[in-house]
Amino acid sequence: MPVALISHPACRLHQMGEGHPEQPARIGAISDQLLARRLDDFLLHHDAPRATVEQLARVHPREYIERISMKSPEEGLAYLDPDTAMCPETLEAALRAAGANVLAVDLVLSGAVRRAFCNVRPPGHHAERDKAMGFCFFNNVAVGAAHAIAAHGLKRVAILDFDVHLGNGTEDIFKDDDRVLLCSSYQFPLYPEMNPPSVPGHIVNCPLPPGSGSDEFRKAITEHWLPALEAFAPQVLFISAGFDAHDADPMAELRLTRSDYGWITEQACAVSEHHCQGRIVSTLEGGYDLPALAVSAATHIERLLNV
Ligand SMILES: [Zn+2]
Repeated sequence: MPVALISHPACRLHQMGEGHPEQPARIGAISDQLLARRLDDFLLHHDAPRATVEQLARVHPREYIERISMKSPEEGLAYLDPDTAMCPETLEAALRAAGANVLAVDLVLSGAVRRAFCNVRPPGHHAERDKAMGFCFFNNVAVGAAHAIAAHGLKRVAILDFDVHLGNGTEDIFKDDDRVLLCSSYQFPLYPEMNPPSVPGHIVNCPLPPGSGSDEFRKAITEHWLPALEAFAPQVLFISAGFDAHDADPMAELRLTRSDYGWITEQACAVSEHHCQGRIVSTLEGGYDLPALAVSAATHIERLLNV
């Protein structure tokens, strides 16, 4: 069964000012690498639809959705926090990024594709229920997970987040919903300067000290994520795929390599094969060194393609 690649031209138009690391070129760096490695031919391309207010409102209050819409500037930048700004094209990109996850869920759960990767921005995992922060506006993966539960009736959904930053937004949204297993690895201390405790069977947080590399990362996943996933038996796997734990990334001090991203993807694929017919919905989060982002994401997608 094929793998879908979902994106939208609007995701290349959102920009937060000259020199901002969360830049439009991130999308093209990944798609160029997929072409160069001849992976593109194996992917089923889809344009992301806009998420509807109803779909967003499963994880964000309607008042918050309205506030983001109202903030959208006619020109220039409107800042929501010191490093999170809207330009005139941001709202469209944010709606498409969230909508990509809704489409990915529909494609994967209908059996049209086995897996999907959403090459979208702005990212989502720092967006809390009613707070935009850390380059994020709507929590794309949370919108997808809530769609899987509400529209497809799933009862057990797992989210794996290997971005170097804690996905505080995803945790905020699902902290009281034990239909969701949330497994995270992240550098601590680091933005957003939170290190919440794990909750057995529901939240598995693996903080890693600065300087940690492959050994520490793989040990944490093997000892903490994999047993929790085995016990939970998810019906679909979501991945918040940030690639900023790469050694070359300027935003943090973890030392992962592309082979670690291949390895973690293989682990996710094995879990998904065992429990949920291989179903994975993966979505771009961080990753700010363009060459490292491109090869890491392409390695991730290559493994998603290998059944
Ligand atoms: Zn990040």
